[in-house]
Amino acid sequence: MRKINVLVWNEGYHEKFGQATKGVYPDETGIGGCIAEFLGEDEEIGEITLRTMFDEEEGLKEEDLAKADVLIYWSHVCADDMNDEYQTRIFNHVTKRGMGLILLHSAHASKVFTKLCGTKTEELRWRESCDKERVWVIEPQHPICDGIPEYFELEQEETYGERFEIPKPDALVFVSWFSGGEVFRSGVCYNRGYGKIFYFRPGHESFPTYYNEHVQRVIKNAVKWAAPTNFPKMQTGWTASLENKN
Ligand code: ZN
Repeated sequence: MRKINVLVWNEGYHEKFGQATKGVYPDETGIGGCIAEFLGEDEEIGEITLRTMFDEEEGLKEEDLAKADVLIYWSHVCADDMNDEYQTRIFNHVTKRGMGLILLHSAHASKVFTKLCGTKTEELRWRESCDKERVWVIEPQHPICDGIPEYFELEQEETYGERFEIPKPDALVFVSWFSGGEVFRSGVCYNRGYGKIFYFRPGHESFPTYYNEHVQRVIKNAVKWAAPTNFPKMQTGWTASLENKN
């Protein structure tokens, strides 16, 4: 079986300029490196490429996207500064080629997620107050929930709350409750064109979320779910009749 190639794109701003992130993810590769490391333990996952916004063409070169079966995307403070052309590249690889896209935490505000959803996905309720997050499974038979208990807890996370300005998901996989009282659709799936998209909420830059075994399992499961299948090339445009009408 061919292995799944993954492009892990981490904004990289906090690793370069923020002490809080360095305290939790001390390696210079930061959040992206942590994700790449646990993905590397999975035998179904093949080549893992690590990029940040500080790489050439904001780490979104055509050649890197072209070889990726799945793109994992973590972004935050620089979301609005990203080059539209490179964001459109992601959009095209998802919708036209079927590249899987996994958006993590504050990537809800990324240009590409907004474009794919067609709504103001950057809008939600939020607060940094070290609330506890309890992530509830909503669709236990969904492949992304494989091996996940009915709920798991993250002792400290940033709080997000509804309303989250996303379109109705094709699958609502997780809902989070926070100790401050909010609830949030924290795991949502969409199909756009040939591509599968999963947004997963946990992962604030100053908390050790990506070391959590359940979070790691969800992301590994999502990579396998989102990877393109061997689908036939479908024709569009003018086409001759398949049947002889004479
Ligand atoms: Zn955050």
